[in-house]
Order: sequence, then structure tokens, then C-alpha cells
Amino acid sequence: MSNIEKTVIIGSGPAGWTAAIYAARANLQPLVIAGDGVSRERMPGGQLMFTTEVENYPGFVDGIDGQKMMATLQKQAERFGTRVLASFVTRVDVKTRPFKIWHINDLSGQPEALLLAHSLLVCTGAKANYLGLESERRFENQGVSACAVCDGALPRFRDVPVVVVGGGDSAVEEASYLTKFAKIVYLVHRRAELRASKIMAQRALSNLKIKPIWNSILEEVLGNDADGVTGVRVKNVNTGYVDNIACRGMFAAIGHTPNTSFLEGQVELNEKGYIALRDGFRTFTSVPGVFAGGDCADSVYRQAITAAGMGCKAAIDAERWLAEEGIH
Ligand SMILES: Cc1cc2nc3c(=O)[nH]c(=O)nc-3n(C[C@H](O)[C@H](O)[C@H](O)COP(=O)(O)OP(=O)(O)OC[C@H]3O[C@@H](n4cnc5c(N)ncnc54)[C@H](O)[C@@H]3O)c2cc1C
Repeated sequence: MSNIEKTVIIGSGPAGWTAAIYAARANLQPLVIAGDGVSRERMPGGQLMFTTEVENYPGFVDGIDGQKMMATLQKQAERFGTRVLASFVTRVDVKTRPFKIWHINDLSGQPEALLLAHSLLVCTGAKANYLGLESERRFENQGVSACAVCDGALPRFRDVPVVVVGGGDSAVEEASYLTKFAKIVYLVHRRAELRASKIMAQRALSNLKIKPIWNSILEEVLGNDADGVTGVRVKNVNTGYVDNIACRGMFAAIGHTPNTSFLEGQVELNEKGYIALRDGFRTFTSVPGVFAGGDCADSVYRQAITAAGMGCKAAIDAERWLAEEGIH
């Protein structure tokens, strides 16, 4: 039988690298399957590879570039013996032990390979949903964002008009948060009423800094290379009327999609596809020996520091579980 890994960590964002640091220091000789870089969701380093300014991660007084931060975390994990595989997990079988993990690197063209593991830590993140406009990508880090808590306090969004797209709880939360910094927040929603819970919707609508733009879809982000976002074009779905709104920021708040499809039928997911955790604040999943940390199991906070914290917990939970199982 092939070699059985003590601990395999899937994902190399803040959760995955933190889990690796703790697992490696606990002598679990972790193997991180980091993603193969074929697409955004499969990027080694995770979501922070797409941001230039991380200002809220403790320890960096002047903030840090996302790519630099992830390279530093990787080095720290490798320093303690973490091994790294540039690959993407396509499916797992965790119904019998050892667990089976199939993975592939679509960039190298190598065929699918199989790994065996005693314990599995899933840290695969969640992708922010965008509208899918080319102009959104063009102005990423130049006024387009999907996270008000991450970016709202940046100088570029202070005392200027910004637009939030969406009508659910997260859109209302994002809009309310942004009122701390922005001059005015336009909330563009395709319907005539918000989907958010009544109390949150009422709070948002009574906020004088939030101006709803009902029955409207955002068609284009406008801007230029020098200034970034300068406006958005919206269309009223009832009348067809097209209007430009001058703004310096566009926040997509139309939900997240957790990267968990490879777990379907194997590990319990909630109705939105996030990994369902057992036992309150711990990282146990429905399958003993499978642990989860970071955005793939957290639809609430979705921050680098909370993901890192959950990665730490997952490694400690795994270490204790392996010891109880007598796997050394
Ligand atoms: C543009 C942007 C800016 C942000 N700015 C901030 C900020 O300033 N501060 C902050 O705290 N948060 C910020 N966030 C949020 C933060 O990036 C996330 O909360 C954090 O990265 C989540 O970490 P994670 O480890 O759970 O997942 P991720 O960082 O998403 O990492 C997931 C990892 O899993 C891998 N993966 C996924 N599926 C598979 C698979 N099947 N097989 C193998 N690997 C797989 C991916 O390749 C990736 O390596 C930002 C997010 C974005 C998109």
C-alpha cells in the first residue's frame, strides 16, 4: 500500500498555511495541496493574492501586499517541514479509512493521482460572487471590491459616493458599514424591495446616507487608468431607462460560493454549501478525522484573521484526534 500521510491540508490561504504551521510544529508532517493556479478559486495563496492592500491583519503596522503576506506565511509553514503540492483536489472518499484524495494539476497536464491520509483539514475558502462584467475585473483594486470590511476604510473610499450591488443581508450590511466612510452609498437592487431581514432592511432604509436605486441592474463599471472607478451605468429593468451614477467605488454584495463541491455526498454541507461544523466553536465536521477551517466553513466573518484562527483550531483538533486514535 502507498504511503499514508498523517495530515493532508487542502488549500493554501490564511487558513491552510496557519493550519500547516501548527500541524508541522506538532510533528504531523503536513502535506498542503495548494491549488494548481488554473483559475482564481484554484490559486495557491488564496484570495489575498488578488489584493494589494491588507491593512487589518494584526502585526503589519503599515499594511502588507496580499501576495507578499501569503509568500511569508508559506515560508513560515515550510520552515517547520511542511511539504507543498501544486495540485487541485477533484474528489475525496472519507467513508472509509485511510481517506482517499484524488488530485490533479491541470497546468502541468499530469494525470489524476491518489493520496491516502489519516486526517484531512479542508481550508478551501469561498469565492466572492461578482457580476461577471469585464469592467469589474479591469478596476479590481482600483475601486471595485467585494468586501466592505476589508476595503471600506481605504483612503480611496473616504468622503466619496460609492455603489453597493445586492439586496440581501450582506448587501445591507456592506452598505451600512460603508456609511462610516463614504459620502453617500447607492444601493442598487434589481427588485423594488430588499431581500434582507426586515429589521436590517428598515435600519438601512432609515439611514440618510443610503440611497436605494430600485428595480435596477448594474450594466457597466466606468472609469479610467488614472482614477480607477469614476461611475457605474445602471438600467431600470421596468422602464429600460439607462443612467450613469458618479461614484468612486463599486462593492459587489451578491453572495459567496464556498469551494466545497468536491465534498458533496462525503461531508455534511449546509444549505448554502458551507461545511457544517459540529460542536460549536470547534472544527469537527460530520466525519471524524475531517476538520475544516476558514471561509469554506464560515459564512459570517470571512476575514484573513478569522480564517487563520480557524486553521489554527483545525490543526490542534486534528493533532488531538490523531493522538486519541493512536496514530503517531
Ligand atoms: C480582493 C479581496 C480582498 C480582501 N481583502 C481582505 C483584507 O484586506 N483583510 C482581510 O482580513 N480579508 C480580506 N479578504 C478576505 C480574505 O481574503 C479571506 O477571508 C481569506 O483569504 C480566507 O482564507 P481561507 O484560507 O479560508 O481561503 P482562501 O484564501 O480563499 O484560500 C483557499 C485556498 O484553497 C485552495 N483550493 C480551493 N479549492 C481547492 C481544491 N479543490 N483543491 C486544492 N486547493 C483548493 C485555493 O487555491 C486557495 O489556495 C479579501 C478578499 C478578497 C477577494
